[in-house]
Amino acid sequence: MKIKQSLILFATFIIMLNPLTSAASDNYDMWPNTQYNSDIPTHQQILGYGVGERITNHGDMLRFFEALERAAPNRIKLFEYGRTWEGRKLIYAAIGSVENIKNLAVHTDNIQKLADPRITNKKAAQQLINKLPSSVWLQYGVHGNEISSTDAAMMTAYHLLAAPEEATNKKILNNTVVFIDPLQNPDGRTRFTSRYYATVGMNHSSDRLSAEQNEPWPRGRSNHYLFDMNRDWLAITQPETAGRIKSLNHRLPLVVIDLHEMGGDQSYYFAPAAQPFNPHMTQDQIDNMNAIGKNHGKHFDSIGFDYFTREIFDAFYPGYGDSWPVFYGASAATYEVASSRGEVFQKLTGEKLTYKDTVHRHFVASISTAEGVADNHKKLLNNFYDYQVSAIAEGKANKKERFFIMPNKRDKAGNHRLATLMAQHDVEVQQADKAFKACGINYTAGAYFIDTAQPRGRFAKTTFTQQVDMPKDFIKEQERRRARQLNDEIYDVTGWSLPLMFNIDTNACGKNIKVASHQINSDSPLVGDISNPEATVAYLVPWGDMAAGRFLTEALQAGITVKSADKAFTLDNKSNYPAGTLIIEKRTNNDDLTANIQKITQNTGAIVNGVNTSWVTKGPSFGSGNTVTMSAPKIAMAWGDSVSSLSAGNTRFVIERQFNYPVTAIRVNKLTRADLGNYHVLILPSGHYKNSLGKNGADNIKNWVEQGGVLITLGNATRYAADSEVGLLAVKRELAYKEKTESKAKKDDEKESTTVGTLYKDKATLLKASENSKDSPDFVAGVLANIEVDQEHWLTAGVHEKLVGMAYGNDIYAPIKLEAGKNLAWFSDAKNVLASGYLWEENKKQLAYKPFLIHQPTGKGMVISFTQEPTTRAYLDGLNVMLMNSIFRAAAHARPLAR
Ligand SMILES: [Zn+2]
Repeated sequence: MKIKQSLILFATFIIMLNPLTSAASDNYDMWPNTQYNSDIPTHQQILGYGVGERITNHGDMLRFFEALERAAPNRIKLFEYGRTWEGRKLIYAAIGSVENIKNLAVHTDNIQKLADPRITNKKAAQQLINKLPSSVWLQYGVHGNEISSTDAAMMTAYHLLAAPEEATNKKILNNTVVFIDPLQNPDGRTRFTSRYYATVGMNHSSDRLSAEQNEPWPRGRSNHYLFDMNRDWLAITQPETAGRIKSLNHRLPLVVIDLHEMGGDQSYYFAPAAQPFNPHMTQDQIDNMNAIGKNHGKHFDSIGFDYFTREIFDAFYPGYGDSWPVFYGASAATYEVASSRGEVFQKLTGEKLTYKDTVHRHFVASISTAEGVADNHKKLLNNFYDYQVSAIAEGKANKKERFFIMPNKRDKAGNHRLATLMAQHDVEVQQADKAFKACGINYTAGAYFIDTAQPRGRFAKTTFTQQVDMPKDFIKEQERRRARQLNDEIYDVTGWSLPLMFNIDTNACGKNIKVASHQINSDSPLVGDISNPEATVAYLVPWGDMAAGRFLTEALQAGITVKSADKAFTLDNKSNYPAGTLIIEKRTNNDDLTANIQKITQNTGAIVNGVNTSWVTKGPSFGSGNTVTMSAPKIAMAWGDSVSSLSAGNTRFVIERQFNYPVTAIRVNKLTRADLGNYHVLILPSGHYKNSLGKNGADNIKNWVEQGGVLITLGNATRYAADSEVGLLAVKRELAYKEKTESKAKKDDEKESTTVGTLYKDKATLLKASENSKDSPDFVAGVLANIEVDQEHWLTAGVHEKLVGMAYGNDIYAPIKLEAGKNLAWFSDAKNVLASGYLWEENKKQLAYKPFLIHQPTGKGMVISFTQEPTTRAYLDGLNVMLMNSIFRAAAHARPLAR
């Protein structure tokens, strides 16, 4: 605290003594002909170095913005919008004229009114538009190792505040508020900056082989839980994303720009984006980004910066930082600058790219964007209002899917999660107070529904509808490329329907719903229930949703003895309980059990039934061998080099923050020899383990499994387990299915240096002949796939018979044989396997009935393999019960010696 104050005094001291030299002592040469006023402290004064001379860390960035706010409190205001997992502050700044900053709260109220044509008619809208400034939101550094954007954010703020009379700035400040989120990922950037400066030697190396230029695992791109936060805007799992979405929903800026970095040999990328666009984008939004892009072109040409547009970075998936804002009516885009990955980088052309060069480009694009917004002030406001009007009209006109209804019969915890998530997106979600009928279906009180005839109707539509098609010509082009043996241009997942991913039943209805209802808030708690709290025999918690799941983890950690039934049962001829139901008996627990059960019920929102009898009339009794006693398993997970950081981070997050249960991360090299006897469960996230674990590692893991360990492999870690030299799992990965042709003739002369003579009649034959003899199926960027579940195994207790998972990549496995294990979940038939997205026809055929979940008993332990990742982006909530069973029920079923 004291240090900070003395720095300000020092800065003030310099300004007072030397009012005209501050600009001269800095290296401000990024915008032509600019005189900077000395009432705003410079980079040099605040940080001790000029702009772009160092990669500013999070703490110094905060210090910089705080100094700006102290120097010009009537023109810049800072807002804290959250804390990262590691406790760092997340802030955004609002910068504008004295008038606009004074009236910021009024402007915010007015833009909220403009955003709702149901309360603001056309005339009232025009009055608001006449009063409102324009607004732009510049967000920087969501990927923590894309470094230049944060320093560009600082320069942008300084430039606007210290040179308000400069011609472009004057235009901007006259009618626009500039919001700056200077660092979206402080934890990732901190990982980058501390490692970078720790590796620097006598000189900063520009060599791409140097330690400076190579980040160790897990790199700085992701946040603490190793999430790519530029994919988190749909499920809002991370605190950083949650804070940003709340702030954007509050301020509703008209233009949103997400600033990134790409490979150092490229130039600069800005709008217009690559095809395909999300079909819910309006022409106005596309036109606005074209106009702003063109303005950049002008500035880049005059300074002599290279750039490109319309390639690589698309706008189809609605969960990016540049696509989510489109759904409240903003025009949005991504910018990418070639990265110096340090203070200096040598391009393949031999040119040296300095950090300052990269900061300069993002800074120019930032100011140019604000200028474009200022130039289009009235148009942007009008477009914003029109967007809301047309969104409501589109919803009203939809005779098939105007309403989405969640019956809320099965999985109340999942329904609650989805309803409150949509509220977090500012979608209005209603919960019925009474029973009602809609489109011929009866619903009970408690059902949720969304009317898409609302300003956020398009967001509800794109996330709730099962299928969003890519444009036909784009698909046609991808199929053409595939036929020509070229890679496809699909950039990310093509399916993202939230009800499918959460496995929540929904219906659509085009007719008006009339029922008394109340609106759901994003923080509405999930309310649990305990019937007969003074039970004399036991408490039962029906298994099958995450409230019960969290009940289990909390009970185990509180030292409560919990049993779980392998099969469904009926108590006293009356009540039916599903397989997996938790049984907490009074006789095996302490006197404070009742109080504990009440507390856990309240914390988790679980449904608990107290019972006064253990008389089971169908299925296993409480004392049967088919009810297992659960233990609190110790979970280890592979971590570090050769593990996919996304898979490791996503999985650790799901277990720690959604199941509320701790995981110990163990570096892969330790797994080769370490005594794993302390652990009950070992999880291998996706990764390439064969070389790093070697024979020692494989033997070590195998021995541990035989002694009673539960090994869980996720995604392509299953490749490792199934490798014939590793031999942990008795299945084989399939090559691409090919119609049998003349492969036999080919085989005969494989070892010869000559081959038999053949005749080709067309180009197709040439392409066919040049195919590899061992091709994997074609790679898939990610679709949602239907999965069917064996209902008669303890590992799938409480799991719904139909699930949706992700099909990503090209791993397809032949089923395990009965002598070795069981296939407990598999992909649906070729016609039905695709739940949402775009999947190649050959993959559909080959995926059909292939395993998704494999169980293989081994000695006293077992191997459980998911052929696809169940934890992708932590948004496949519908697979959580299956994953919980794989950890907790499996640990109870393994037969380790007492530990
Ligand atoms: Zn990026």
